[in-house]
Amino acid sequence: MAEDVFKKLVAHCKEYGYVFQSSEIYDGLGAVYDYGQNGVGLKNNIKKYWWDSMVMLHENVVGIDSAIFMHPTTWKASGHVDAFNDPLIDNKDSKKRYRADVLIEDQLAKIEAKIDKEVKKAQKRFGDSFDEEQFKTTNPRVLKNQEKWNALHKRFSDALNDNNLEELKQIIIDEEIACPVSGTKNWTDVRQFNLMFATEMGSTAEGAQKIYLRPETAQGIFVNYMNVQKTGRMKLPFGIAQIGKAFRNEIVARQFIFRMREFEQMEMQFFVKPGTELDWFEKWKATRMSWHQALGFGEENYRFHEHEKLAHYANAAVDVEYKFPFGFKEVEGIHSRTDFDLSQHQEFSGKKIQYYDPEEGKSYVPYVVETSIGVDRMFLQVMAASYCEEEIEDANGKKDTRVVLTLPPVLAPIKLAVLPLVKKDGLPEKAREIIDDLKFDFNCQYDEKDSIGKRYRRMDAIGTPFCVTIDHQTMEDNTVTIRYRDTMKQDRIEISKLHGIMAEAVSMKSVFAKLK
Ligand code: ATP
Repeated sequence: MAEDVFKKLVAHCKEYGYVFQSSEIYDGLGAVYDYGQNGVGLKNNIKKYWWDSMVMLHENVVGIDSAIFMHPTTWKASGHVDAFNDPLIDNKDSKKRYRADVLIEDQLAKIEAKIDKEVKKAQKRFGDSFDEEQFKTTNPRVLKNQEKWNALHKRFSDALNDNNLEELKQIIIDEEIACPVSGTKNWTDVRQFNLMFATEMGSTAEGAQKIYLRPETAQGIFVNYMNVQKTGRMKLPFGIAQIGKAFRNEIVARQFIFRMREFEQMEMQFFVKPGTELDWFEKWKATRMSWHQALGFGEENYRFHEHEKLAHYANAAVDVEYKFPFGFKEVEGIHSRTDFDLSQHQEFSGKKIQYYDPEEGKSYVPYVVETSIGVDRMFLQVMAASYCEEEIEDANGKKDTRVVLTLPPVLAPIKLAVLPLVKKDGLPEKAREIIDDLKFDFNCQYDEKDSIGKRYRRMDAIGTPFCVTIDHQTMEDNTVTIRYRDTMKQDRIEISKLHGIMAEAVSMKSVFAKLK
């Protein structure tokens, strides 16, 4: 059922100009996507929401835009050359390749789903008197599954932490995990696979230098730490934010734009005094969760997920997860990266990367708390949360299904559609007049094709929050019919009121006001 919804969402993204497969006319390129005429609008609005919330709302956060190509030593220093690996395993029959950790995570999710099912069943049976906590701690079937989950989870995190590839394979065998394609359990050994794309810079074969396409934007911030701190006269604590492309040769690229090989990140590195990093980690956790929830997709659909394995550079890490149609999955990572990156760059470059603390009267390498979110994954989250199919009745009482994207108005790519009832009697000209008046503030679209009902539906499917219809009465008294996407309610209003109504509904400020 949920998978069904997801398939429909993917088709919808294509049909309404949100996301296209890259190089589609050549049958596409795996896990690479293009954004269409509406997708680019939504993507830009997501980026603006993030950027303004970081850079405008925090006096001590500034932005940069660093290059994708970086000196190759960067990736030695950061540990990516040696350790940016995923454990992969192949099924010998289907020849399909999987991430060993993902196969085991899916197995854990299956057990979780079993527990959930029991709870839901009991909830139905007991109704209002149902005590979930009590049920979970006493029901034998739930307890048995919980025990199973705990044991598997412990074994899995131990294997990851010890980098024990044989144990990962053994878990897959013991859990009897089968290949979803061939259905067999005929697995190869688990191997490490580096995710960085490499290319060459320079014109001659001898002189060419092997360089990497950055797998994260963070390193561009670290190598510019001194530049920004000095030229911006920044005092700790302060942050540097950046939005940019990142590239990873993902082994299992699936679930549409959830996991891509070329994607975009919005990262902020917050530099703090050593010893204060865990307090800042908690602060940023709360700030980021509030940023997500201010969009109004329901608090129950978000959760924090502690990492099974801490990366070599981290002393605390958590993911913000959203309930996608295919389960709770990571949208954003918040990591306490210690002084690892700056110390490494200091060592590899031989340049001092430190902060002079006037209060302490000494210099030290700052600690870092990072917030890192994928633009594309956020895009998918917004789309998944907004896609609705509603049963409605038309004016004649006939049942119908309405597909509507209930995008938060602030993120919607088109804010207003202006629709002349007919293509004559000066109505199109009047519509253009309204657009000319509003286009400096809002992205408007003119549409005169098909019946008004059809045009409304088209705008619902794109997620346009407002439509106004120009009719003959408009020519007499300067009023229009405004139609609201979510309620389908219609009001007759004066044209002069339109700007005010729109400004309030689509302003970034109204969302920022909800931030904690
Ligand atoms: P995963 O465990 O899913 O591979 P990760 O923990 O490696 O992700 P990070 O390195 O923490 O991810 O990257 C930060 C954010 O960048 C993620 O939360 C996600 O939103 C986004 N991201 C990472 N990899 C991809 C990808 N291949 N495609 C799209 N977005 C991605």
